[in-house]
Amino acid sequence: MIKCYRILILITILLVSCATSPTGRRQLIIVTEDSAIAASKQAYTEMIKPYAQQGKIDNDPALKDRVYRITGRLIAQAIKMRPETKDWGWSIKIIDDPKTVNAWAMAGGKMALYTGLVEKLEATDDELAQVLGHEIAHALAKHSAEKMSVAMASSIGVAAVGVVADNKGLAITGAALAAALAVQKPNSRAAESEADQIGIELAAKAGYDPRAAITLWQKMAKVGGKGPPEFLSTHPAPENREKKLEALIPSMMPYYERKGARPFYKL
Ligand SMILES: [Zn+2]
Repeated sequence: MIKCYRILILITILLVSCATSPTGRRQLIIVTEDSAIAASKQAYTEMIKPYAQQGKIDNDPALKDRVYRITGRLIAQAIKMRPETKDWGWSIKIIDDPKTVNAWAMAGGKMALYTGLVEKLEATDDELAQVLGHEIAHALAKHSAEKMSVAMASSIGVAAVGVVADNKGLAITGAALAAALAVQKPNSRAAESEADQIGIELAAKAGYDPRAAITLWQKMAKVGGKGPPEFLSTHPAPENREKKLEALIPSMMPYYERKGARPFYKL
């Protein structure tokens, strides 16, 4: 009887919690965006802490200037797209880890970029803007809340959360742990297409060349080492990624070529 009752609650939640993403895709949202943001804040602090203790955060001033400048311009565009995000408390941390080719964003605009991505890809400013724009797009389009929802909706997911809690030694549980796990889980291909589309627009409006979206993914596919980079495992290629990006470029060029100063968000 109790079990039936639980199933009934779950069905009710499922029925009432389908939302629509910025590009019109239906999303399962059990974890509301507000609770995803609160959980992500806590998860972010815990995930950054061990690197900070080892002096591995933002310790190259030139790279910090460069990444903060690019990210600040992208965030200003993100806020134009979704004005309520101006209160998010946006943040990016550069993690000194030359072996890891990765970047991620949590709900509420808490982001990380690993130095391995910059170094191994020899990424230009335009290419970095594409990576960071893509990450910001995941947060803007509520993909973190969506991934947390999927994890928490399945009892297997909840059990897995328990196991990882034991193994990772993160001092967080429940929703915060789901937030930490969400950045380590692959996005759906539909979410990837959406992030590509929003990301290239944010970057073009911030003054970064949309053609760099193509070279970025080409470099990503070529980067050597053992297995594919972390970034590709959490950002699987949607069908015809390159073709779809290519098709977006002409409509993005006017944003990129627009004259005048670009707005900036101070990080
Ligand atoms: Zn992605």
